[in-house]
Amino acid sequence: MKTLTAQVGNVCIGSDYPIAAQTMCNTHTYNVEETIAQCRRMYEAGSKLIRITCPGLNDVPFMKEIHDSLRAEGIDTPIVADIHFSSETAIAVAPVVEKVRINPGNFHKDHDEACRQFSRLVVVCKEHGTAIRIGLNHGSLGARITDLYGNTPLAMCKAAMEWLELCIANDFYNVVVSLKSSNTIVMVEAYRLLAKAMEERGVVFPVHVGVTEAGNGDSGRIKSCVGISALLSEGIGNTIRVSLTEDPVNEIPVAQYLADRYDGVLRSSMTAVRIEGKCAEATYDAPSREKLLLDFSCDFGKRLLDKELDEVKVKGCYRDENGVCVDVVESGLAEYLEDELMQATRRRFYKPEYIACPGCGRTMYDLQEAFEAVKSRTGHLKDTVIAVMGCIVNGPGEMADADWGYVGEGNHKVSIYKGKEPVLRHVPDTEAVDRLVELIESSQN
Ligand code: SF4
Repeated sequence: MKTLTAQVGNVCIGSDYPIAAQTMCNTHTYNVEETIAQCRRMYEAGSKLIRITCPGLNDVPFMKEIHDSLRAEGIDTPIVADIHFSSETAIAVAPVVEKVRINPGNFHKDHDEACRQFSRLVVVCKEHGTAIRIGLNHGSLGARITDLYGNTPLAMCKAAMEWLELCIANDFYNVVVSLKSSNTIVMVEAYRLLAKAMEERGVVFPVHVGVTEAGNGDSGRIKSCVGISALLSEGIGNTIRVSLTEDPVNEIPVAQYLADRYDGVLRSSMTAVRIEGKCAEATYDAPSREKLLLDFSCDFGKRLLDKELDEVKVKGCYRDENGVCVDVVESGLAEYLEDELMQATRRRFYKPEYIACPGCGRTMYDLQEAFEAVKSRTGHLKDTVIAVMGCIVNGPGEMADADWGYVGEGNHKVSIYKGKEPVLRHVPDTEAVDRLVELIESSQN
């Protein structure tokens, strides 16, 4: 898809340029040294952009200090300020960074007032050469849009198009747009609708693609590859983030793999494929387990999502760290990967569906540890969607279609949600997983 180009510092984002892999800090922004150290590791790992949360006006001086220190070290990676709710914070930080990420619908409950605040931000961004990402997430669209279109991919597309129209009206084109969801079907559908709508409008902005709250480990990687590769293979996506509830530096190799694959630099390790009806059998000779997992997800994720295929079998081998060939069927990896891919494409659920945010500067507890604890105690609760979210401010709104939510409040306290409603508040974190499991089990009896 031919797009305009957004200029974000020294990085150009658009169809004329390579796909830019990016990530986001999970440090507290006020902890300047720690944030700089994490940015340094991200830079060394090859991140093309670095996003840092800017929760409020008080954080703007920290953003400036971080930005200036990185430049003084010779690290020129563009910095993106992540804003929720506060247009004043966006306006204050826009001169300090190369890009601001906002959901302008959250600026104000009154849509006209939100439009006025957004237009003020555009003026500042124009003046300072700052780009904007209009970043809308499934689950935080606001009642005005969901009353009209439901909580649907169409609603996500319509909301984004409203803000893009306002950019056009303000003659502002230094814009990237994203529509993320943790549900791969919703997310792919939303981006496809958006691409079509922009093409029909005749103004195609560059697109940031990601599966939000994808979780961690193999599941997070497979889910991200399914959603992102489906779109990149159609030419939708100019910058990407693989959101993992892990050290954010771990996101870069996966994102760079996707960027290289769809920029035509990398090839799949699949050596043969046999398709009968809607069943495929693929053979791999992969240089590593990781490459096999990523290739398999990209080779077949989209075809399962789009129901071109109903089943995929994998065989062949990968090489372990000693270069020894491991047979994927004999080792049990084949069955595991097939189950994971079916779950990521939402064709068959063999375990609970987990939604977990990657955490950011708003996270006030050990999210990664809590997520592992929740997973280890809830693996038997099939057909349940469980969210583990890093903050009480945005977490409940962003956990979309979760049945249950474990939301860290900070100070070793947790809120437990059933759907969008809190059912227990201020639970000590030492007891929270027990309470969550009890609630889910009693609701299933
Ligand atoms: S839900 Fe997670 S990623 Fe989103 S703002 Fe809160 S802590 Fe950050």
